[in-house]
Amino acid sequence: MQQKLIDIKESAFKELEVVLEGTILEEIRVKYLGKKGELTTILRGMGALSAEERPLVGKLVNVVKKDVEDKIESISKEIKETEKNAKLSSEVIDISMPGKKNIIGKRHPLDLTLASMKEIFVSMGFTIEEGPEVELDHYNFEALNIPKDHPARSEQDTFYINENLVLRTQTSPVQIRVMEEQKPPIKMIAPGKVYRSDAVDATHSPIFYQMEGLVIDKGVTFADLKGTLELFAKKMFGDKVKTKFRPHHFPFTEPSAEMDATCFVCEGSGCKVCKGSGWIELLGCGMVHPQVLRNCGIDPEEYSGFAFGFGVDRMVMLKYGIDDIRLLYESDMRFLNQF
Ligand SMILES: [Zn+2]
Repeated sequence: MQQKLIDIKESAFKELEVVLEGTILEEIRVKYLGKKGELTTILRGMGALSAEERPLVGKLVNVVKKDVEDKIESISKEIKETEKNAKLSSEVIDISMPGKKNIIGKRHPLDLTLASMKEIFVSMGFTIEEGPEVELDHYNFEALNIPKDHPARSEQDTFYINENLVLRTQTSPVQIRVMEEQKPPIKMIAPGKVYRSDAVDATHSPIFYQMEGLVIDKGVTFADLKGTLELFAKKMFGDKVKTKFRPHHFPFTEPSAEMDATCFVCEGSGCKVCKGSGWIELLGCGMVHPQVLRNCGIDPEEYSGFAFGFGVDRMVMLKYGIDDIRLLYESDMRFLNQF
């Protein structure tokens, strides 16, 4: 019996020596130590032994069992260690491999131009105001001195949502909202999107950007208007730029004017951008109509002011020499990557 136990141990150790995987190790454990394993069977058969043999064999069985268990345990540890190392080495990072290049977006030319325009006006003490793009007819037209039957309505092809609601055709309604809410002095710009139901072509888009400006205070004159807008033109296009004002008509300003600046490409000598005239039309402006002030509860006897409005898309197209407004709204990466 003792010899048998020694044989079992030797055979178990021999089998264990070549084990490299956890599943095979488990098979061997079951073979020797499982419920029907060889050592378990001997333990169960102890009753048949003589009284002298029993303690000797019992002790030996336990020693062999312990030895086999220890051996299995140590091999199990080795296998786990090997597996862990294999996993680690498979996860090694090769720092010499080239990285993935992230595509970083660029600022849209419209946004770039708007940003520099805003910066100039903020540096002159203007605040930036916003208003809704879906606007009441009242703010978009009536309060700006354009009643329902006014011919100026037909000049603007308006998207009507219903009889009283429009997609704003200009940023001017923001002026009215600010004048209703704030007491003068007011010094603000309102940049934003506007909408017209124009047919799309190289110079027309149903959506485009405007920037509105408004100054209201006691004793504001046309000289203030000229000074402010001349300074803006110099900051935007350089000190050499000259400006001139031509009389014009807008329902919400009186008197009204359009401001031209010397062409920043040819500096006034005439080129393709300015169509040979040396001048470029920049903006519309004028002294706020007394009726518009009254509409907003401001006394025109006490206060006066001026307003101006730019087409921002036009500024972008002039600045970058773009001849088709559709390029600004098509999100074509080949175009946008040039800025
Ligand atoms: Zn020119």
